[in-house]
Amino acid sequence: MTKAAPGELADGNPVRAKRGAMNSSAARGTARLTGPVPARPSAGPGAGRRAAAGGTAATGTRAIPDGLAHLIAELQGYGLRTEVPMERRQGGAGPADAGMLWIDGFAATVPTSSEYAQASPYVMRAEDDGWGIYRDGRRLATAQPLQRPRYYDLETADGIPYWKIALLHLDSLASTVIQTCAYWGNADQCTFCGIGVTLANGRTIAKKTPEMLAEVAVAARDMDGAVDATLTTGTTATPDKGALYVARCGQAIREAAGLPVEVQFEPPSVLDVIDQVASLGIDSVGIHVESFDPEVLARVAPAKARTGIEGYFRAWERAVAAFGPGQVSTYVILGMGEDPALTVDGCRRAIDMGVYPFVVPLRPTVGSLMEDLTAPLPAYTEAIYRQVAPYLAARGLGAQGVAAGCARCQACSAMSLLEGSGDRGERTYLPLVGNS
Ligand code: SF4
Repeated sequence: MTKAAPGELADGNPVRAKRGAMNSSAARGTARLTGPVPARPSAGPGAGRRAAAGGTAATGTRAIPDGLAHLIAELQGYGLRTEVPMERRQGGAGPADAGMLWIDGFAATVPTSSEYAQASPYVMRAEDDGWGIYRDGRRLATAQPLQRPRYYDLETADGIPYWKIALLHLDSLASTVIQTCAYWGNADQCTFCGIGVTLANGRTIAKKTPEMLAEVAVAARDMDGAVDATLTTGTTATPDKGALYVARCGQAIREAAGLPVEVQFEPPSVLDVIDQVASLGIDSVGIHVESFDPEVLARVAPAKARTGIEGYFRAWERAVAAFGPGQVSTYVILGMGEDPALTVDGCRRAIDMGVYPFVVPLRPTVGSLMEDLTAPLPAYTEAIYRQVAPYLAARGLGAQGVAAGCARCQACSAMSLLEGSGDRGERTYLPLVGNS
């Protein structure tokens, strides 16, 4: 697989290369649970990315602090140095590595372990009563890192640690239910993906069963306040591309824990599969085109490019009919050399048909074919957000309306913080672009 070439490939959209990559360490924890459940941020179902950490009361309508979107975009671009340990996502399907925290009470994932993050101007420090984010000695926001979830100390009757079955991504239970992919290790491997890394490092198991996931979901809900489940899968060499298995896993979670569930899969060869997924009671689906620039898609995800961007639109049309407007989302990854105009146009066309484009910066995963890159510059990312978010809002879509999954959580993007109005801090911001 050809790696993305460093250099300026489109207006304002450099593919940023770094010098090297840090090794990541495996998560640990197999001891049986003892002791009381500690207090931790939990927003409850439907509360979106807002949580009670270090801010004002957690409600679904809480005001967004001035400048927060800009700060999170900066952190997701430059990374965050940390002087305290924190829970991280390492590897997994899609663009994955991240530290997880609440910033002024809002969920966020930011690069913390990559080499470029070690040079970030932003640092998280422990304070007398909590944590803060600083730049040049100035305190910018309250921070609360995700503490190790309590359910991680449990294991199944046959000895599989719960954390190898599903992780807690802030308030969402997340699992890659089939940790292998038909494209991994061959010319079709997506260059940003790390699905095989986690498996090779022994941090997960190859296949999670619906029964395992149901058991873990109940514990994550009861012990750590999980409010939904986000399930993805490696692609299988079957006509459904793995959609039906991940949906059966989601069905088991819904029935056992009552949590809303998003499942993610590639467009199946037969679109009737999407209706079958809906019939299992799944709340939301993610069908990820990754890039609206066909040249970039061909370079970073050759198998998805064969489906073609129009193939994604056909799948989304069927999915919106089955799940409803706003319950279908797609990742749109920035920083892979894409044309910004094609990107914004593609997002707007998706929005017009009821699809939520979840725009995120590339987060190079150690062990992926893009591990030598860095995240895109925040100014570029923020400029795209500011052309997409108002368009979403003007058409009545938004993160608050998504039942489950990445577009509900929103921690990997700053876009939803711009959906309402502006962001009126002391800083200089790029203008919101009109929705004509
Ligand atoms: S389809 Fe691409 S992103 Fe998804 S698991 Fe396979 S290689 Fe990773």
